[in-house]
Amino acid sequence: MKVLKFGGTSVGSPERMKNVAQIICDKNRKIVVLSAVSGTTNKLVEISNLAEKKQKEEAIKEIENLEKRYTIFLDELYKTEQYKKDANYILINIFETLKSLVDSPFTVRTEKRILAQGEIISTNLFHLHLVENKVNAVLVSALNFMRIGKDDEPDYFYIKENLKREIKAFPDAEIIVTQGFITKNVYGEIDNLQRGGSDYSASLIGAAIKAEEIQIWTDIDGFHNNDPRYVKNTRAIRELSFDEAAELAYFGAKILHPASVLPAKLQNIPVLLKNTLQPDALGTLITRDETGDGIKAVAAKDGITAIKINSARMLLAHGFLRKVFETFEKYETSIDMITTSEISVSVTIDNIKNLQNIEYELEKYSNITVEHDQTIICVVGNFIAEKTGVALQVFEALGNIPLRMISYGGSKHNISLLINTKDKQAALELLSKHLFS
Ligand code: ADP
Ligand code: ASP
Ligand code: MG
Repeated sequence: MKVLKFGGTSVGSPERMKNVAQIICDKNRKIVVLSAVSGTTNKLVEISNLAEKKQKEEAIKEIENLEKRYTIFLDELYKTEQYKKDANYILINIFETLKSLVDSPFTVRTEKRILAQGEIISTNLFHLHLVENKVNAVLVSALNFMRIGKDDEPDYFYIKENLKREIKAFPDAEIIVTQGFITKNVYGEIDNLQRGGSDYSASLIGAAIKAEEIQIWTDIDGFHNNDPRYVKNTRAIRELSFDEAAELAYFGAKILHPASVLPAKLQNIPVLLKNTLQPDALGTLITRDETGDGIKAVAAKDGITAIKINSARMLLAHGFLRKVFETFEKYETSIDMITTSEISVSVTIDNIKNLQNIEYELEKYSNITVEHDQTIICVVGNFIAEKTGVALQVFEALGNIPLRMISYGGSKHNISLLINTKDKQAALELLSKHLFS
């Protein structure tokens, strides 16, 4: 069985939803994972922020605006009055839930419950559309099988057992529709897999049922060799390995949620990235095969903070790095990049929640310099040791862009460079021009 995930733009209008129905109906049993209609989760974040600031009237106004948008949406999505009425009834319930959430005392749980409504709306509307068109489809709530543990990591065993039970209940269903993004947590509360998490849902579902393939349908014809939001004339890459795709996703390629490659890789399930707007385009196939050599793509991750830890006593002192790492571990902050010299070590982090505590501890035995607004540029490919010149190509391309840190050799798939965020646009353009044109 295949798992097909459709992102926000792919279900962004009644026309697009109908188009998705065309793509998936081929008589093969499959699981279809949907995101919220594009723009909805952002709107729900706004509503939640207003509720948190106790601006209830404004929050209710935004809810009503959103409700109006969906009223028009369902009018175009369904053919018959009966289905329009049924869908409207579902919407009224969901929007009542939203209003009552905004009306109750705000907690972190309120926010998660508000955000969950986007995927609940899209899957309900889509399922009803399939039923109206006589497709044998069922809607299974992700809240019945998706679960994260105390550490926010997925509970693989729980997901597998519960998903199996849920789908076994519908042996004849051609299409099993479910929500991306949303999950229960270890306390049985509604939670989510972070923004963009529907890709991760699809991958977890694919891994749980050992799917034949996981397809991620989006608004572009696969993984491009540079970030199309910043650089013109990027090109789709036909094949990537799991490791290459994971590096690119982790280091900023928005097309895939950073964690979504791992579950597929663990079960060796091919991931195919496809374009809903151009279904015939080949897309990108991600498998364990390492094809081709040399540089394949670049990505960039913003919001990075660099910490330089300088200590005269580091010289020849064994155990120094352990002390540094223990500090980051104590404050649950993961390190992305690391470089060392004889008297100093530089690391980068993207989560600065505990930075003050980290600085306080490190200052007990070293001098600290902190720089914010940094960007990691990640150059990915298959760098075979015998083949020289990859690093040279990258440095030559970057010309006069000041490099703050360089990491090479950590894996054979990645060269990471730390630059100031203000140089990112220029750096990405230079890399495209010199590496891919
Ligand atoms: P969806 O809503 O379908 O999940 P996303 O907006 O999350 O879609 O991801 C698709 C977008 O990712 C593309 O429209 C593109 O702008 C952006 N993107 C960033 N880097 C890349 C890349 N290397 N290749 C393809 N798309 C990328
Ligand atoms: N709807 C969620 C978001 O916008 C999840 C997703 O689209 O993948 O972040
Ligand atoms: Mg996405």
